[in-house]
Amino acid sequence: MEREQLTVDVLFVGAGPANLAAAYRLAKILEGQNREAEIMIIEKGKQVGDHVLSGAIMDPRGMIDLFGPDWADECPVEAEVSNESVFYLTESKTVTFPVIPPTLRNHGNVIVSLSRVVAWMKEKVEEMGVMVAEAFPGAALLYDGDKVIGVRTQDMGLAKDGQPGPNFQPGTDIHAKITVLGEGSRGSLTKELVARLGLEGRNPQVYGTGCKEIWEIPEGRIEKGEVWHTAGWPLTNDQYGGSWVYALDERRVSVGFVTALDGGDPDLDPWEIFQTWKTHPVIKALLVDGTMVKAGAKTVPEGGYWSRPRSYGDGFLILGDSGSLLNIARLKGIHTAIKSGALAGDVCADALAAEDFSEARLAEYERLFDQSWLKKELWKTRNYRASFKSGFWWGGFTSTLSMFLGGRLFRDPVPLAPDHTHYQKRSWRKEPLVADGTLTFDKVTGVYHAGAVHEEQQPSHLLVADTDICRTRCAEEYGNPCESFCPAAVYEMASDGQGGRQLQINHSNCVHCKTCDIADPYALITWTTPADAGGPQYMGM
Ligand code: SF4
Repeated sequence: MEREQLTVDVLFVGAGPANLAAAYRLAKILEGQNREAEIMIIEKGKQVGDHVLSGAIMDPRGMIDLFGPDWADECPVEAEVSNESVFYLTESKTVTFPVIPPTLRNHGNVIVSLSRVVAWMKEKVEEMGVMVAEAFPGAALLYDGDKVIGVRTQDMGLAKDGQPGPNFQPGTDIHAKITVLGEGSRGSLTKELVARLGLEGRNPQVYGTGCKEIWEIPEGRIEKGEVWHTAGWPLTNDQYGGSWVYALDERRVSVGFVTALDGGDPDLDPWEIFQTWKTHPVIKALLVDGTMVKAGAKTVPEGGYWSRPRSYGDGFLILGDSGSLLNIARLKGIHTAIKSGALAGDVCADALAAEDFSEARLAEYERLFDQSWLKKELWKTRNYRASFKSGFWWGGFTSTLSMFLGGRLFRDPVPLAPDHTHYQKRSWRKEPLVADGTLTFDKVTGVYHAGAVHEEQQPSHLLVADTDICRTRCAEEYGNPCESFCPAAVYEMASDGQGGRQLQINHSNCVHCKTCDIADPYALITWTTPADAGGPQYMGM
């Protein structure tokens, strides 16, 4: 097959905050030194921001470093945090924390729609001459031995049987001196690269699945910039997770819930937990008679410092969520992603000047990381997530104590295991929540409000290595957790017409959250880029 070939100096895969920051910093340095380079960003969404989802409260530190103190003059900000509360919920009661835990203090931070922020950052990089190619998913890395030399983009217009359809367009081979992966949580190319080169951190990565909605509500219930966080119900003590309410203004709120995927319950359903949480009296009182206008879901890499893969090598760097830089203790990853991007911009500029793209040269990224506030911040909370292995109360106690002791309580990694290894044999199935369509919604309604669209007549981008295991071992041992953990009702054990059940994949519903790639008990599912650049449309969320 004839493929178009393209050569650039630096190729960024994914137009999230990390890569946009890196491209901006690199272009700025080159401009200042009167040098030129071909810089390209490829993005799988149809427009930058469509596949970006976050709560989101942003610590402005990363933006200040990158754009200077006046960054907010142009960048879209919804609100400055005005006041904040942390609640512990039981099924019917609300207990207000008398003191806000240090990691959840948000004075000086801002509430943003991350999709709008990255759309603005895209304009900034384009002004600097960076090429941004939307609807251009990176499907595979190109290698010379173990050196990364670029990316092959997704073949478009494949028919259902995987053969070229009438609108077929072969993917392009983009060769680059440096390939920078900033694909977000559970990036598909990052996953492949980490496994191939053995780049895993001291701990495996662990994840939560975050579900989010934007609501319009009657005025007078919440103040612009007000922030609530809740712990407890509907989760039990042995299940990690929690929620947020962020008031974008007096009439619009962002609400969401993150559920960790290591709970061991095969019936774990992050979407249902989120919907159930909204029925709590304090949340219901906020939302009742309002309208849900947008919805979405995405995984969150929670492992932190010890789950960082080696993030540099011959011809590549790994940034942001893909590099495990989210600070789960603070529920923040935007400023850390931006900072990693700024460091990578410096490293790429130096590497281009030296014409050296080797592992030894790109290891400069790690040296800069070690000297930065980013390392200091992540180091302090390096075992935060692992502390919660023994339950909410013990985790809360030990992680708080450790922070007060400057992170000295557990110096070395407290071991974590991959989420899918925690499942216990199936012994229960709860009554599913029946959505009422006004306060609570079923998954298909969520998919509609995520704007998720994929061409039906293409091969499924969700590859299941052995569907026999689904109807035999998995059905017996765990009751097919994929029907529960996917927040978009993609997986269904449907009738096979002969009295049995077989796996049906409704791939067009997929919101690209990547939960299935993580939580499948037999690690049979691989998320790949679809052949139509489809997916959710989160712009404005
Ligand atoms: Fe998420 Fe996988 Fe479901 Fe897509 S199929 S929405 S990636 S769990």
